[in-house]
Amino acid sequence: MMRFDIATLFVEMCERVLDESIIGRARRAGKLEVHCHNIRDYTQDKHKRVDDTPYGGGKGMLMQAEPIYQCYQAVCQQLPQKPRVIYLSPKGSVLNQEKVKKLKEYSNLFLLCGHYEGVDQRVLDEIVDEEISIGDYVLTGGELGALVLVDAVGRLCDGVLADEICFQEESHYNGLLEYPQYTRPPVWHNMEVPEILLSGHHANIEQWRREQSLLVTKQRRPELLDQVELTKKEQAFLAAAQKEK
Ligand code: SAM
Repeated sequence: MMRFDIATLFVEMCERVLDESIIGRARRAGKLEVHCHNIRDYTQDKHKRVDDTPYGGGKGMLMQAEPIYQCYQAVCQQLPQKPRVIYLSPKGSVLNQEKVKKLKEYSNLFLLCGHYEGVDQRVLDEIVDEEISIGDYVLTGGELGALVLVDAVGRLCDGVLADEICFQEESHYNGLLEYPQYTRPPVWHNMEVPEILLSGHHANIEQWRREQSLLVTKQRRPELLDQVELTKKEQAFLAAAQKEK
């Protein structure tokens, strides 16, 4: 079973999210493990401080190396092998579904959440395997990034979703964006569900969905198509759709 360890100054914030919905149910059902560790519990400072001013001057505070290192060591003691250590950071490579699939191959992920102006570089050099960002913007802390990562990787773990098909057909899994979806009623605000979806003809529905997926990807994220192998028929379909526009 996959295990995530989150090192944070905000355990309650993480637990609140991780207790809910699909990930919360999966944790309770023993489909994956997530443990949150308060870095503050590992400081030797009598006032429980975990931050200090940066050498060389500058605004704000930095998280000190030692409490993070002690937290990491304590977690390692509980694990059968060294975890993959990820620091959530705006300087990291931006998370995408390919990366999510790769991370799912590790049994243990240790996720370090920074705060304030960040973390003393030395502990990053000492324990971190890679830095991951959840987008080109700056957050106040790494917790939201860690939660995004647990959610995205966790839902690929066995037994977390009802059916593997659930994630295999979704946006990005196969390099494409998802086709449009509809549910009851068949007519809403004068808009009808595409007839083919009511036909019960599975092969035709599959083909329609694939074509819609290609179209929406072409319209919204054309660069994704460079990484997808298209059949001659699909290439012709897209070329014809382009001409129609
Ligand atoms: N001074 C840092 C910099 O300019 O790169 C930013 C520090 S940020 C205010 C505080 C913490 O939030 C970081 O240590 C990191 O853990 C987290 N963080 C901020 N933006 C993030 C992002 N885009 N993805 C993941 N984590 C992020």
